[in-house]
Amino acid sequence: MLFIRFHGCPLSCPWCDEPLHRDPAARRDWQAEELLAALRQLDPHLPFILLTGGEPLAVPGLAELVNFLKAQGYWLAMESSGVGGTIPEGIDWLTLSPKTALTEEIYQRANEIKYVIDTPPTARRSREIMQRAQQHGNVWVQPRADGQRDAAGREIIPPQALAGCLQLIRQSAGTIRLSLQTHKWAQLP
Ligand code: SF4
Repeated sequence: MLFIRFHGCPLSCPWCDEPLHRDPAARRDWQAEELLAALRQLDPHLPFILLTGGEPLAVPGLAELVNFLKAQGYWLAMESSGVGGTIPEGIDWLTLSPKTALTEEIYQRANEIKYVIDTPPTARRSREIMQRAQQHGNVWVQPRADGQRDAAGREIIPPQALAGCLQLIRQSAGTIRLSLQTHKWAQLP
C-alpha cells in the first residue's frame, strides 16, 4: 500500500508519531498531478493508497484529491481521528481512531475502529470500548509506543500498554483484536 501522510492535526496528542505535525515550516504543498507522479514513481502498478496523518480530514481540498485519485483507479483507505471535517464519499475503507467524543454517524461510517491503549483501562473506559465492540463488530486495540527502543533499534511495546490491550481482548472473549504497528518492528520507514 502507498502511504500519503498529511501534515497537521487539530488535536495535539502528546504521543503523536507524526513528528512534523506541530511544525508549519516543515510543510510541503503538493499539486495533485505532482503527487500522482510521485506515487507512480514509487510503484506504477500498486492500486492501494492509505491517507493518513496528521489528520487527513483537516486537509483543505481533501474531497477534490479523493475524487482525483479515484479517477486514476486507486482504492483509498483513510485513517482518521474523526475530527476536522467530513469523510469524502470516495473513501473505500475508513479506520477510525477516536481520541475525543464523536458522533454516532461517524462510528457507523467506520469500517473498523482502533483504540490506542497506553495502560489498563478504567472500568468506565473498558465498558465504553466493550459496548462499541458489541455494536460495531470490528474493533481493534493497539498498544501505544512511548519511543523506547531495544538494542537492535526496534520500538519496544510498553508492557502496561500491552497489558491494557490484552485485558480488553480477554474481556471481549476475542471480539476485540490486537493491532501491532508491524512496520515498526520490521524497521520499515
Ligand atoms: S489525532 Fe492522531 S494525528 Fe492528531 S495529534 Fe493525535 S495522534 Fe497525532
